[in-house]
Amino acid sequence: MSELISQAYERLRSQGGRMTNQRRLLLSILDSLGEHPTAEELLLIARKQDPDLNLSTVYRTLRWLEAENLVSARLFAEERRQERFDAVLPSEHHHFMCTNCKNVIEFDTELLVDIKSQFQDSSGASVSMGSIVLYGLCPSCRQGSVAQELDREVG
Ligand SMILES: [Zn+2]
Ligand SMILES: [Zn+2]
Repeated sequence: MSELISQAYERLRSQGGRMTNQRRLLLSILDSLGEHPTAEELLLIARKQDPDLNLSTVYRTLRWLEAENLVSARLFAEERRQERFDAVLPSEHHHFMCTNCKNVIEFDTELLVDIKSQFQDSSGASVSMGSIVLYGLCPSCRQGSVAQELDREVG
């Protein structure tokens, strides 16, 4: 069992809650997907296995997981403002989002340590965590756009 799912079981047990089939389904999708889906995307995938599932159940489950610190909701700069859910146990990591296909790539960097301490020194604030988001074209979209440009040049 993955960390996410076993942690969720543990929290439910301590709260006297029940691991319903729908909760288990959503957790296993979140866990195996390894992406940053919106609630609608999650619903679409989950409905293949449970057609009765609805969006409010998906949101209720996500909000509960969020309150338990098992997923975090993130906002990226997209035309359509929507939360994406990150099924990563709270850890500091960063994201790249492809502005074309919306693919999200996670990355780690030690550089933030310096940025934090510089800011703390100059501002006197105390930083607890931070997250960097980079935007651009992912490798495959980048290849696509290069190919298009070549086509234009040739044609
Ligand atoms: Zn992430
Ligand atoms: Zn892309």
